[in-house]
Amino acid sequence: MNKADVGIKNVLFSREQLTQRISEMGREITELYASSPNKLLIITLLKGGVVFTSDLIRHIDLECRVEFIKASSYAGTESTGTVNIYLPRELDSLEGYDVLISEDIADTGLTLSELEKKLLERKPESLRTAVLLNKPSRRRSPFNPDMVGFEIPDLFVVGFGLDYCEKYRNLPYIAEMSEEYINKE
Ligand code: 5GP
Repeated sequence: MNKADVGIKNVLFSREQLTQRISEMGREITELYASSPNKLLIITLLKGGVVFTSDLIRHIDLECRVEFIKASSYAGTESTGTVNIYLPRELDSLEGYDVLISEDIADTGLTLSELEKKLLERKPESLRTAVLLNKPSRRRSPFNPDMVGFEIPDLFVVGFGLDYCEKYRNLPYIAEMSEEYINKE
């Protein structure tokens, strides 16, 4: 019996679909920055963005720096509405950099709009955001990602880096959870 997927209702995006879309995004990013005179810096949010980003950067055919930062706003399946972001000292100045935020999902948009605000204060040459998943129906802040892997409806999803109570990040696909497993710990 397979133990990693207990509580999964249905698969929304298979490993193959994710791989194909992420490779397209990597090509798009390569073309977008290929003629830029600036250095490319990819910033990812721990922990959810790590799986997407580690695939994405292997499809970007450019020299780039990668930084991981910590942000949190979720408790179970709900955003708390308060976003905590910690930017390390080495990101104090972003002059000379094209910054690309690479994130698992834009849901309420609160995390990414707060992160963009903080990064803009550090004066990057440009700032864009690429998300694997976008849930536009849930926005609580006027945020629009520059690049989107897939648009999804208002569903709580797990897998490919996304968790429920720290579980399911290792699933190689994106899936919807069964309601009966939510809040049943
Ligand atoms: P925000 O609501 O600020 O746009 O999203 C913040 C974070 O909430 C995301 O980076 C992600 O970690 C988490 N999140 C939002 N929607 C989902 C979801 O459907 N599933 C999971 N597992 N996490 C989500």
